[in-house]
Amino acid sequence: MELEKALGLIAEVPDFPEPGVLFRDLSPLFADGPGFATVVDALAGTLSPGVELLAGVEARGFLLAAAVGYARGLGVVLIRKPGKLPSVAGRVDYALEYGTAGVELPAGVVHPGQRVGVIDDVLATGGTVAATAKLLEGAGAVVDGVSVVLELAALGGRGVLAGRRIEALQVV
Ligand code: 5GP
Repeated sequence: MELEKALGLIAEVPDFPEPGVLFRDLSPLFADGPGFATVVDALAGTLSPGVELLAGVEARGFLLAAAVGYARGLGVVLIRKPGKLPSVAGRVDYALEYGTAGVELPAGVVHPGQRVGVIDDVLATGGTVAATAKLLEGAGAVVDGVSVVLELAALGGRGVLAGRRIEALQVV
């Protein structure tokens, strides 16, 4: 399937999770075999040759990172919401519009100097990816780049991540 057609499977849901927000729902894309394969291959093509490990951000980033990792023969580290991991190497908390969120890194998985590619479905304000990068760098890893399916440009994530290599299959 062509990339444009695959990306066209992403649904737009008004007023979710709160009034005024237009949520991009990747569920129909994930459920379409050829569409999913196209997007996974396209994400795999955004990785630089030096990437040694992929970091998938909970939860949709897990799905994408696992598939891209398989396609490229790379392993995956799961960047988790707090409280899920039995053994934690580090935690970074970050502010949301209302309240805070956090990300945790499992212990013993990421090694100093290792080049890691971060994968998520949507880049919005950039808070999640910035926290993920800080977490990985806190463990001594090198964040090689950030690959997402969709970038919501109006939310300014690229500015928050200034200086990092960001690859988005689609920018809206
Ligand atoms: P950020 O931290 O960049 O504001 O938000 C990115 C995180 O929130 C990502 O993990 C992403 O899954 C989720 N997210 C934010 N907006 C959307 C959206 O419209 N659709 C989807 N699928 N996820 C979103």
